[in-house]
Amino acid sequence: MAHTAYPQSYYAASANSVPARPELNGDVETDVCIIGAGYTGLSTAIALLENGFKVSIVEAAKVGFGASGRNGGQIVNSYSRDIDVIERSCAPKQAQLLGDMAFEGGRIIRERIAKYNIQCDLKDGGVFAANTSKHMKHLESQKKLWERYGHTQLELMDAKRIQEVVGTDIYAGGMLDMSGGHIHPLNLALGEAAAAESLGGVIYEQSPAIRIDRGANPVVHTPNGRIKAKFIVVAGNAYLGNLVPELSAKSMPCGTQVITTEPLSAELAKSLLPQDYCVEDCNYLLDYYRLTGDNRLIFGGGVVYGARDPANIEAIIRPKMLKAFPQLKDVKIDYAWTGNFLLTLSRLPQVGRLGDNIYYSQGCSGHGVTYTHLAGKVLAEALRGQAERFDAFADLPHYPFPGGRLFQVPFSALGAWYYTLRDKLGI
Ligand SMILES: Cc1cc2nc3c(=O)[nH]c(=O)nc-3n(C[C@H](O)[C@H](O)[C@H](O)COP(=O)(O)OP(=O)(O)OC[C@H]3O[C@@H](n4cnc5c(N)ncnc54)[C@H](O)[C@@H]3O)c2cc1C
Repeated sequence: MAHTAYPQSYYAASANSVPARPELNGDVETDVCIIGAGYTGLSTAIALLENGFKVSIVEAAKVGFGASGRNGGQIVNSYSRDIDVIERSCAPKQAQLLGDMAFEGGRIIRERIAKYNIQCDLKDGGVFAANTSKHMKHLESQKKLWERYGHTQLELMDAKRIQEVVGTDIYAGGMLDMSGGHIHPLNLALGEAAAAESLGGVIYEQSPAIRIDRGANPVVHTPNGRIKAKFIVVAGNAYLGNLVPELSAKSMPCGTQVITTEPLSAELAKSLLPQDYCVEDCNYLLDYYRLTGDNRLIFGGGVVYGARDPANIEAIIRPKMLKAFPQLKDVKIDYAWTGNFLLTLSRLPQVGRLGDNIYYSQGCSGHGVTYTHLAGKVLAEALRGQAERFDAFADLPHYPFPGGRLFQVPFSALGAWYYTLRDKLGI
């Protein structure tokens, strides 16, 4: 089998060193077999191992190969659709549970980093930047909404105040969330993998699950091995392909692109983001950026529906970066890469069971760093027989993309075109 390496990203180039991990060869028996070593799989593994389960993970490529090792590194709270949307589509008790959990993922990340001494450049503070006065009104109501669920560490910023934390005059204002922040995402995943292994978990790399035998005694097959387990957790997200047809039917992989500058002088870096907070704007197709531990600017944005790789990433993202920070016009781009997240029609995560013993979580639609950590904890609770919080997610309504798989991309691209137009017109 071909060995699948990391993409050529800044993260792969600055990854902490890790032990070689084996491929799965032969037969293994365990309590839980997890498919995918991204944050969903790793977080589930840690939560299960901490509670005495035997866990094996099969990873098609390497730990953090997917979105978890490529993302913007922004610890963004809540979900891709916010609690007000959830309130409109759920019973009050379910909405209350989901609202209460909306900031928990960020706390789980910080607990894990502290408990397992993970070196991943954690910084506190995330900014939601309002491109228009309409966005500012949205942030005002979002603050009130989040405060109703007890999430109170938020500060609204007017157009003058936001310039103290983001060195540009393009924003109408913003909101600062000190429980947000940023990390080196691949090093977080690698640290979590090491944590899982320190608890007795086993991770097989270069070992794609190619078939699942369902039934009372489920089995996961890889090219050279089999894992018999009491439970299976499917955590392959946008890279899962068609292994589980029920899951691919109601979700769509999408690409988003990231560039990384050469290291900036300390003075220039400080002029962009003086307090080293991360920033995402409020557009539907949003821009997100932050400084790295070695003073590069990482800037992401854009969406390619259907997860095709654009030919020239720098040509797409650099103009967005220069709009915010024209002073970077002569700065060299050292890295550019693409990664896939999984979109659902509602933009809310899809969580559930297939039969009694196969569990899944996928499709957090762009904001997944915190959600996936929460999902792991909630999945582990369900496997331990406490499914109230799991069911709050599992009961969210979901629909297939109109037109089925064949027309997913055109329909969604049309939707994206509409939202881009709205972003451009500021409506
Ligand atoms: C470029 C980019 C930027 C982003 N920026 C942010 C951000 O700043 N903040 C934020 O909150 N969210 C962000 N996201 C979203 C976030 O990264 C994801 O939601 C999250 O990492 C998903 O984690 P996951 O574990 O579910 O999936 P992944 O990290 O994609 O992991 C899935 C893993 O499963 C493996 N796999 C798939 N199929 C199989 C199989 N058959 N057998 C074995 N293994 C398999 C894959 O190889 C992969 O390693 C971004 C996403 C991208 C792509």
